Amino acid sequence: MDYAVARQRMVAEQLVSRGITHPKVLQAMTKVHRHLFVEEAFWGRAYGDYSLPIGEKQTISQPFMVALMAEALELEKDQRVLEIGTGSGYQTAILVELGAKVYSIERNRALALRARDRLESLGYYHAWIRVGDGSIGWKEKAPFDAIVVSAGTPQIPMPLIEQLAENGRLVIPVGQLQSQVLKKGTKKGTSIRWADLGNCTFVKLVGKQGWNS
Ligand code: SAH
Repeated sequence: MDYAVARQRMVAEQLVSRGITHPKVLQAMTKVHRHLFVEEAFWGRAYGDYSLPIGEKQTISQPFMVALMAEALELEKDQRVLEIGTGSGYQTAILVELGAKVYSIERNRALALRARDRLESLGYYHAWIRVGDGSIGWKEKAPFDAIVVSAGTPQIPMPLIEQLAENGRLVIPVGQLQSQVLKKGTKKGTSIRWADLGNCTFVKLVGKQGWNS
């Protein structure tokens, strides 16, 4: 299988066709070797239009969702982004490719360690991964220019809003277990301007400010 061709097709057929336009996002999605973020048994399906298992009952997000969220974050070079739910580390790599410094939290230790090794071996050095509950953010490293949550939550965790910088963007799936709405909040002074980016289905955010278990 020619993975470079598979990536180009993925970008054209799943991203551009659905309205992803940001050149740097498209470039990053063309560049990052998504198959290296899943087990070898899934390499042949790594560029398909779906999420895939990564062990520990978790999944690598659908390519379109990763691109949509990355675009919505409006990242500029050297901006600081907090990612909650590292999973495979695939989205982390995309955010690093966009020039960001990525602080990423994963509650599952095995996944966090695997993602950390993988990112290091692939040369993605601007990523710092921690094991913990990301629903309360990462206070010591705040404020963040952008925060992205890769797991669904019943309500928006207040600590994340507190840890956003002025004009900071929060992208987060909010709703029920089986379906959520992807929301984007932009911090303006003491208020947040909200926009809906569409429906989505993520695994659940388990933590103090998310689901109980
Ligand atoms: N973007 C990732 C997808 C991750 S799936 C990728 O492309 O691979 C969501 C991840 O969120 C899971 O790995 C899950 O363990 C993690 N998670 C769930 N609740 C969490 C929490 N409170 N803090 C940190 N990580 C959490």
